[in-house]
Amino acid sequence: MPHLWINKNDEVGWQTLALGLGSTALDLATLGLRLPGIPPIVPLLQRIVRRDHPEQWALFAPPDRIRINGRLELLGLRLLHDRDRLEVRGLPPFYFSTERLAAVEKFPGSEKTVFCPRCRDAIDAGADAVRCPGCGMWHHQMAGRNCFTYAETCALCSQRSALDGRYRWTPEEVE
Ligand SMILES: [Zn+2]
Ligand SMILES: [Zn+2]
Repeated sequence: MPHLWINKNDEVGWQTLALGLGSTALDLATLGLRLPGIPPIVPLLQRIVRRDHPEQWALFAPPDRIRINGRLELLGLRLLHDRDRLEVRGLPPFYFSTERLAAVEKFPGSEKTVFCPRCRDAIDAGADAVRCPGCGMWHHQMAGRNCFTYAETCALCSQRSALDGRYRWTPEEVE
């Protein structure tokens, strides 16, 4: 799920704010931020949904107030990409991230049999499984068959397999 990293004050440090499927726009009030001269209900981030496209998010703010990755955005509107550093004059800097966390879900089943890349057995519909956020492949993750967490990383890619709710990338890498 896309999320923001915001550092409202140095004591708390960087915190994530999920951009959930339910939300279509995020305003300053929702973010707990205030910007002089801009009503708090004006959307700052807007979800953009187009058929057959992955969801995208755009940032709005008055031109000359937005910097993305250090560059002034004169249009006042910009589609966001993973790890973009967003600066809106008057607000603390924040980051946009599209990283998803690995989580155990019920395998929804599929027309063609899906085989676990770790043990090579079929995955049954309804079985506890993890869809790797890195490569998108399903792995078993149930009692006696913890295929996703069996090794340090996914069976097919470099995605960390720990189900500890920690993101691989945080702004501390670059700040
Ligand atoms: Zn397996
Ligand atoms: Zn993977």
